[in-house]
Amino acid sequence: MLRIRRGRVIDPATGTDAEMDVWIDGDRIARVGRPGPSGDAPKSPSEEIVDAAGLIVAPGFIDLHAHLREPGGESSETIESGTRAAARGGFTAVCAMPNTRPVNDNASVTRSILERAAAAGSTRVWPIGAASLGSRGEGLAEIGAMQKAGIVAVSDDGRPIATAKLLRQVMDYCRALGLMVIDHCEDPSLFGGAVMREGRRSVRLGLSGMPAATESIAVARDLQISELTGCRFHVAHLSARASLELVRAAKQRGIPASCEVTPHHFTLSDEDVVYDARFKMNPPLASREDRAALLEGLADGTVDAIATDHAPHEAAMKEVEFDRAPFGVTGFETALGLALELVHAGRLSLMRMIELFTSGPARVLGKTRSIAAGEPADLTLLSTDHAWTFLANESASKSRNTPFDGRQFRGGPMVTIVGGRIVYRRDAEMTRAGKQIARTT
Ligand SMILES: [Zn+2]
Ligand SMILES: [Zn+2]
Repeated sequence: MLRIRRGRVIDPATGTDAEMDVWIDGDRIARVGRPGPSGDAPKSPSEEIVDAAGLIVAPGFIDLHAHLREPGGESSETIESGTRAAARGGFTAVCAMPNTRPVNDNASVTRSILERAAAAGSTRVWPIGAASLGSRGEGLAEIGAMQKAGIVAVSDDGRPIATAKLLRQVMDYCRALGLMVIDHCEDPSLFGGAVMREGRRSVRLGLSGMPAATESIAVARDLQISELTGCRFHVAHLSARASLELVRAAKQRGIPASCEVTPHHFTLSDEDVVYDARFKMNPPLASREDRAALLEGLADGTVDAIATDHAPHEAAMKEVEFDRAPFGVTGFETALGLALELVHAGRLSLMRMIELFTSGPARVLGKTRSIAAGEPADLTLLSTDHAWTFLANESASKSRNTPFDGRQFRGGPMVTIVGGRIVYRRDAEMTRAGKQIARTT
């Protein structure tokens, strides 16, 4: 029996915001409420107590979008290192994009990812299957067989689903299976060989840029195919105002659409880009106006989830000229700290921020996530005031490609619990703060 004592339980699924204890038995939540007449005394000698006084107890965070690189890219990340970084970031479940080597386009790759995650993963890993064979945009992947093996959605992320015709086939198929389709929305003809957003900054840096329409044209296409087929559709890493307005209008029309925004897109803009590949990702950092629109969408409910698009690349790949470096930044360990910056700035309520990490992404996946008896014991304990500095060198990830190295944060993940098991705790800092955690009484 594990007891999370005197935390401030915030559960967006039920609107709960109250000081309570949470009892965990095995891998499930057994009870939530005030301690009984026996007060704080442990119920049994085997009861382990986590003192959560001063902390927020939230449902376990879900990341809808990450690249764990295994199989095939183990020099950049493995399921072991990636999920360890995810747990350090407060995540309890991570959706793994299929652009591995080999691509996760068949049930045997799906099964091997799940086996590896069960053996070495700190968090749950929910694989996303490819939409097309090899994500090449030609024939359909083995979607039905992958669903039986355990995929939670379908995507060709890394690249867009190639044509409207193929997308229609994928969506017709996925609609029948009850699967969601996630697209990396990008018009290839506008994308060209661009490496950042087109604008004053790209001109000044002499780098080739792509306009916002590269994304929003593809979002418009996809929303129309979603309406045509009735298939649930999710926009990956939405970065542009025009895309957000399309999703907002589509939701109003009843189209089953959703979208996610990454911490780097809601924190930075193209004006922050310097000639350093740690600022190179796709979609690229957008304009200040786009960023302002994303902040509105996060607050008003148009955006369903904060997702990291954690995209590790080993140093040798990123330490080259901006043009030649691969796209992508790491994201697990800084996501919550960056989201809390919005809370501190008064842009997001704490309840809404937690929703964007928990019931929001769960809803996108057709799941629920709540702190209630009988639910899986996945919990994220966070602080809103703990001061800390993110140092890429101390990251659990095998890669260091982040624009946030050295950033100082106020608040962040403190304890991560997956299936009743403590997979991460910021022990040292807790001791310094004079608190005691995970005391076995
Ligand atoms: Zn993508
Ligand atoms: Zn991605």
